[in-house]
Amino acid sequence: MTTKGNLFILSAPSGAGKSSLISALLKQTSPRPMQVSVSHTTRLPRPGEVDGQHYHFVSKDQFKQSIADKHFYEYAEVFGNFYGTSEIAIDQQLAQGIDVFLDIDWQGAQQVRMKKPDVTTIFISPPSKQELENRLRGRGQDSEEVIQARMDEAQAQCSHYQEFDYIIVNDDFDQALADLTTVVNNQRLKRSQQACEHQSLFDDLLA
Ligand code: GDP
Ligand code: ADP
Ligand code: 5GP
Repeated sequence: MTTKGNLFILSAPSGAGKSSLISALLKQTSPRPMQVSVSHTTRLPRPGEVDGQHYHFVSKDQFKQSIADKHFYEYAEVFGNFYGTSEIAIDQQLAQGIDVFLDIDWQGAQQVRMKKPDVTTIFISPPSKQELENRLRGRGQDSEEVIQARMDEAQAQCSHYQEFDYIIVNDDFDQALADLTTVVNNQRLKRSQQACEHQSLFDDLLA
């Protein structure tokens, strides 16, 4: 029997480093397969963003139709755009034993927690407000107007930090990546997981 995959949520104010951390985590060698969930969004692609890889870019009408078709595990309006996670995609990945990472906002995290209480939730914090602004600018992908809107939203996102299981302060990137790896391993080493993964071992030890 395949052990079901673990579901992880990473949330953070825009620019705190979620995408960079998830991408670095997925490049590491791991005893279990890992994938990041590709969300649907109505926002326009940034330069270099590829449809189907960074997001499934859809129109507002298509998004509304998907809501009506109950296609989404969760969805939310963030910065005036809609973002949502496909239910079928997640279920298929988890059933195949893949550990799945959702990069979603606090509203989405609340919805997933209600449906799946064993989800592991992680809040990524910037080391300071000033550094958050520096990173948004340094990324060089958003207009001044968008950066200001994201800074205004940062406080709303941060005000939910107490709802998360783990907090990682992304100051030194390598340390934050090591912390994230620890959280993932912690979940994988839980008895419920290990008992399933090593069932034949325990059958043998107890025979
Ligand atoms: P980023 O903050 O720079 O990564 O900017 P994005 O435009 O990629 O994401 C905007 C916001 O939407 C972030 O708060 C994400 O966590 C959130 N988000 C992305 N995908 C989803 C999703 O599928 N569902 C929900 N609820 N939020 C999402
Ligand atoms: P998010 O996905 O949370 O919006 P990104 O991963 O796009 O954030 O990171 C925002 C910017 O900050 C990127 O340019 C990234 O290279 C940079 N960055 C991320 N983590 C760090 C860090 N620990 N120190 C310095 N810069 C960082
Ligand atoms: P960006 O537009 O910069 O890619 O993402 C902005 C925010 O939307 C980020 O905080 C990101 O986590 C969030 N986000 C991206 N995809 C989803 C999603 O599918 N659901 C929810 N709830 N939030 C999302």
